[in-house]
Amino acid sequence: MIPVTKPYLPNRDKLKAYIDGIYDRQWLSNNGQLVQELTQRLEAYLGVENLLLVSNGTLALQIAYRALGVSDTDRNQKPEAITTPFTFVATASSLKWEGVQPVFADIDPNTWCLAPDNIEAAITPNTRAIVPVHVFGNACDVEAIDEIAQKHNLKVIYDAAHAFGVTYKGESLLKHGDAATLSFHATKLFHTGEGGAIIFKRKEDLERAKKMINFGITGPESIEELGINAKMNEIQAAMGLCVLDEMEENLQAREQVWQRYQQALPANLQLQARHEALGYNYAYFPVVFESEEQTVRVAATLKENGVLARRYFYPSLESVECLDAQAAQPVSKDIASRILCLPIYADLSADSQNIIMEIMKEVING
Ligand SMILES: *Cc1c(COP(=O)(O)O)cnc(C)c1O
Repeated sequence: MIPVTKPYLPNRDKLKAYIDGIYDRQWLSNNGQLVQELTQRLEAYLGVENLLLVSNGTLALQIAYRALGVSDTDRNQKPEAITTPFTFVATASSLKWEGVQPVFADIDPNTWCLAPDNIEAAITPNTRAIVPVHVFGNACDVEAIDEIAQKHNLKVIYDAAHAFGVTYKGESLLKHGDAATLSFHATKLFHTGEGGAIIFKRKEDLERAKKMINFGITGPESIEELGINAKMNEIQAAMGLCVLDEMEENLQAREQVWQRYQQALPANLQLQARHEALGYNYAYFPVVFESEEQTVRVAATLKENGVLARRYFYPSLESVECLDAQAAQPVSKDIASRILCLPIYADLSADSQNIIMEIMKEVING
């Protein structure tokens, strides 16, 4: 069976050495040595400041909303945030969970990121934030979004779960927005088993979030505000440090897999139009087929041959009932109905890729 993705497992002996250190120190959580080390190394690797490690990428979003005053903490404000329907459900469900109504705006048909004009059209007096997604690691139109946010006094929180290591105009893409969040789930490019991070623009927001992720506790006998538990632990950090050590090899192998697809793909497939100033991370290989019927047929034939290509992102989130969407999102709905993500991971063999592409060609042409 060829899965759509495989967790990257770093050198086992190295992980054991980190675990030995954890046993020696007998310190397992609460901002331990390895969490501090990973924080520093990630800030240096990504070229960012004000990075806060948390226990997963969904809590990263929720803490970012809270720290930036987007959440409905008064329970009667009915705030809204404008976001994309073409993403993993957590982008929108995390808003709803925080009492914020996700208001969907449609995506650009080529980049598959939120279209700035549609954002502006969706603004109401209740809008507090824009939550765009750098989907599949592509850069949103960050300049236009910044302008809209300034004009209407809105917070911007980028769900950058796919954008680990991505650069835009030579700098980290994660520097854009009041905050950008990462997921370090096992299936992501860089991972800690489960985990995540928030990169804040301002230090004071980072400091507020630091208190929030530890119950609002600020000292042995002081609880300053309402908090929750969203701390990363030492075992997670140990895994992260090991994966980070092997990032270059991992990226090179993925790029090779990515290029092999790019060079031998059947004709007439639509690929994501990436910004030309983007330094990409080769995390995903999404392709869009001619019709939903063809998409379903390709996915089924691949599955019969032991290959799992996922319909991702499908369905478009305005159709998910518990999110209470108000309006149709025709572009997102259309792309979602015709997209498959092809298997991509560091040790995917050229032979496996050739089989995948042969099957696709047979279905498309036959
Ligand atoms: C993975 C992912 C998340 C959720 O992250 P978890 O670490 O699994 O909680 C959120 N948004 C997007 C776009 C994702 O791909």
